[in-house]
Amino acid sequence: MSIAEKTGRPIADLLREGDSAEDLYAGLRAQFEAELRDTRTPEHTRALRDRWLGRRSGLLTAANESWLKAAARELKPTVGKLQNQLKRDLEAALQNAMQGAVSEPRDEAGLDPTLPGPERTAGAVHPVRLALEEVLDIFRPLGYTVAEGPEIESFFYNFEALNFPSDHPAVDEMDTLFLAGKERALLRTHTSPCQIRIMEAESPPLRYVVHGKVYRNDTPDATHSPMFHQLEMFAVGADITFGDLRGTLEHFVRRFFGPSTRARFRPSYFPFTEPSAEVDITCPFCSGHGCRICKQTGYIEVLGCGMIDPNVLTNAGLDHERFQGFAAGFGLDRFAMLRYGIDDILQMYQGDTRFLRQFR
Ligand SMILES: [Zn+2]
Repeated sequence: MSIAEKTGRPIADLLREGDSAEDLYAGLRAQFEAELRDTRTPEHTRALRDRWLGRRSGLLTAANESWLKAAARELKPTVGKLQNQLKRDLEAALQNAMQGAVSEPRDEAGLDPTLPGPERTAGAVHPVRLALEEVLDIFRPLGYTVAEGPEIESFFYNFEALNFPSDHPAVDEMDTLFLAGKERALLRTHTSPCQIRIMEAESPPLRYVVHGKVYRNDTPDATHSPMFHQLEMFAVGADITFGDLRGTLEHFVRRFFGPSTRARFRPSYFPFTEPSAEVDITCPFCSGHGCRICKQTGYIEVLGCGMIDPNVLTNAGLDHERFQGFAAGFGLDRFAMLRYGIDDILQMYQGDTRFLRQFR
């Protein structure tokens, strides 16, 4: 039985089992001294003080209850004296430790080797990286290969090959950051250029997850950042249907947001997919009952998807009569926000260690 367990038992029982009152207090003292030797920081020392002298559950407080107060009348003076002596000694040792006044002698160089060293802080995994790893852990077992691509893209890969009409608003400089002095070079506005690059380089069947930073000419606010992280997955092969897309995404959202999550597909439009859909999931915060975050609708829009437009397959050099494909994309930052309950996207990029430390 540890000395900590003994403090919870009546002293009469312990004495019957062969301990003397002096043994019991010596055991407490030895335990305390061992724990004090292990403290390295003022926080540790404070925690040690609470553990031993805390008013409700301190070890010495417990001993006071079950040993001193419960002791037989003739034993009380001995136990009381031991108890008081130990309490005084513990308080003095804690006080010394708090003031850093360790009484060990210094060495010739004047260093005190018994002083605690500087506290080393461990890094934390960024919430976007955490979300990314979780997503990849879901897609890798489904046979998807993970890829990245260049952040500086050509107009062709970012827009033209993806079937954007030249008057599409995204093409406008209002939304796209073009690079000065370069022949229509730009910071990619999405990760989809990688679809073209991969389709050009490899032949179907293809299953890929592509992720990375993308850039938009946006004014930063709680939900917009001029740089954010996108992830998309796509598959190309013979006989791929919308049913495959739907099954894959339903599996994905259940794994990422929880087994009771349901997905709802709404018709939508994207230049590079036809037909296109937006996917809402049952709100992970209220399980679909309606709350502030889902604006009482019970659903939250999380991603866009569709069957890869035949023009896109053709632009990448594939025969759209033989092959079909599906694609889906979303903002990883938004996924991380939904998953970890973060309400301001800009917190992700301010490098505030108090925020980041939560994700250790
Ligand atoms: Zn809700």
